[in-house]
Amino acid sequence: MKSVPELFGSKVFNEKEMKLRLPKETYKELEKTIHEGKSLNIKIANAVAHAMKEWALENGATHYTHWFQPMTGVTAEKHDSFINPQDDGSVIMTFSGKELIKGEPDASSFPNGGLRATFEARGYTAWDPTSYAFIKDKVLCIPTAFASYSGHALDKKTPLLRSMEAINKQSKRILKLFGEDDIRVVRTTVGPEQEYFLVDANYYQDRKDLIYTGRTLFGAPSPKGQEMEDHYFGTIKERVQSFMDELNEELWKLGISAKTEHNEVAPAQHELAPVFSTTNIATDDNQLTMEFIQKIAKKHGMVALLHEKPFEGINGSGKHNNWSLSTDKGQNLLEPGETPYENAKFLIFLSAVIKAVDEHQDLLRLSVATAGNDHRLGANEAPPAIISIFLGDELTEILEAIETDSYYEGKEHEVMKIGAHVLPKFPKDTTDRNRTSPFAFTGNKFEFRMPGSSTSIAGCNIVLNTVVADVLKEFADVLEVAPDFESALNTLIRETIKNHKRIIFNGNGYDDAWVKEAEMRNLLNLRTTPDALPYFIHEENIKLFERHRVFSKEEVISRFEILIEEYSKTINIEALTMLDMAKKEILPAVSKYSKTIADTILAKKQCSASIDTSYEEDILTKISCLLAKAYRAVSTLEANVEKLHNMNDVVKEAFFVRDEIVPAMDALRAPCDELEVMTDKNAWPFPTYGKLLFGIM
Ligand code: ADP
Ligand code: MG
Repeated sequence: MKSVPELFGSKVFNEKEMKLRLPKETYKELEKTIHEGKSLNIKIANAVAHAMKEWALENGATHYTHWFQPMTGVTAEKHDSFINPQDDGSVIMTFSGKELIKGEPDASSFPNGGLRATFEARGYTAWDPTSYAFIKDKVLCIPTAFASYSGHALDKKTPLLRSMEAINKQSKRILKLFGEDDIRVVRTTVGPEQEYFLVDANYYQDRKDLIYTGRTLFGAPSPKGQEMEDHYFGTIKERVQSFMDELNEELWKLGISAKTEHNEVAPAQHELAPVFSTTNIATDDNQLTMEFIQKIAKKHGMVALLHEKPFEGINGSGKHNNWSLSTDKGQNLLEPGETPYENAKFLIFLSAVIKAVDEHQDLLRLSVATAGNDHRLGANEAPPAIISIFLGDELTEILEAIETDSYYEGKEHEVMKIGAHVLPKFPKDTTDRNRTSPFAFTGNKFEFRMPGSSTSIAGCNIVLNTVVADVLKEFADVLEVAPDFESALNTLIRETIKNHKRIIFNGNGYDDAWVKEAEMRNLLNLRTTPDALPYFIHEENIKLFERHRVFSKEEVISRFEILIEEYSKTINIEALTMLDMAKKEILPAVSKYSKTIADTILAKKQCSASIDTSYEEDILTKISCLLAKAYRAVSTLEANVEKLHNMNDVVKEAFFVRDEIVPAMDALRAPCDELEVMTDKNAWPFPTYGKLLFGIM
């Protein structure tokens, strides 16, 4: 077997491979494209395409595809083979620069929120040279952005790249003020921690809800849940371990630095975290990671559930988005420094994040709003739906001292003066303890804990990058014309802390008291997706995205429509699945079971009229009563679904789904779950929570 360093990146056309295979001049040009965003001419593209094809053929590829990330949230690919038939009946394998740079998938079936319909029927994909090409299942995959011919983004990657450009531009303006004008690029870095569940494939097969919706729509709690707290970091079962080993190997081949793996809090729940990388690459890698988790689980007779809430009463899954800013020289801009000068820089970027998060709570919240995530946020397992920042006591005290121009006790009674004093080092473990905060400073990065496990991280990073870029722009506009940089900087940081400290909360985010406190602080509490999404199309938010060329107005509106429709569609599918399971499985099974009981009563009575049949009669009465209740709930849900199908306003639909369909689903689930615990286990039509959660031996 190959060693890990040999394995790592062996299926990736990375810089090492490019350097090896490209003429020096070509490589230099390409390198400029990769690191400085210079555009690529067709001559260079032809040379790169040729080298890429040769490499791909040597590594067993027969096809290529433009790999892209449409608004569905999953990746899309259409395979073309390299073969080029010749006159003599033979074929040669070809791949041109044109084919590398641009593709024209017939993409009319991807969600576009009306964009393509109005503007242009075709879409095209364009190579993102900053993300390496790779081989997956004999296919050379070329990471691309996807847009309409009129230039509207139809994917998650285009706006992500634009947002990275926005924050790059504004960060460089700030760094220039600190005398650093040799920075080529500032990039945001991301390390997403991916949570998921594993269930046995045999049990999965028998659950229509898991198959159609990714989560259980019925299911009584098993006698044991997560209360013993014996799963987190527990020994990994052999079958799971061999799955993880293979997963790591496959990810390493793709140059994805899967680093940590462990059992999570809930039974059958696991986590995988990579080493962080540049945001667009981290996004590509996370999409691949989700794909491979599912693919490899299948090979091991298991199914991976990426849904945010597969099981009622058991912790759901999230995807912590660790985020920071880094220069091409490897300097982390959220790392408190060794010198006063470095600290001033740290503080300006920190203040920018604080202001951005406070001013754009709505956008951050809606960037993680999905039907699946509504089950997590605000429940006592994941951060509340209220956005706040955790800084830790030490950093908070320092900011307070700066704000009031007073002594900071921790540091030998020094007055905190920005740019004149050294900040103390914050040991990581003092800042990382609070797990209830949605947005926590963890020593040298922020951890955004709200994203759901199945969502693309593009969405939240587009927002993060844009809102921070906007504040940096505002800061740079002020500082660039300030007569005295140092005092202007001091004022700016002090004012920012003063005006935005309401967003800082170091306490327990799960506490009900926090909800009240947050209300007093006038923080937004957007509890559900329909509450949050409409903020997307508010005038000031559209202007913000336009200002930084991240989204045009049309793009914002189309995305809003896609997202809000996705919410209703998701829950509509769940409702239909519930009706299907109730009508075809649960109700008939229970009815049949009650007949067995009734037969038993009759048989017993025939033996002797005085025989005690209280058990059977009791059960029969209770079951029949619940059965009738479930049946009525079916009718109500059916009627509501019917109403939904006759509506034609996306916003009204979403609210109807939330206020009528979801409660009707709950009303159907309740009697069915009660029936489950009263019914003979051999009569129950599908595997129980016990089997799903503890079924992997
Ligand atoms: P935990 O959150 O469990 O304490 P770590 O702090 O070690 O774990 O890291 C979690 C994730 O944060 C990892 O994916 C790691 O690579 C990522 N990370 C670390 N530093 C940065 C950074 N500067 N920018 C973005 N992500 C980072
Ligand atoms: Mg974490």
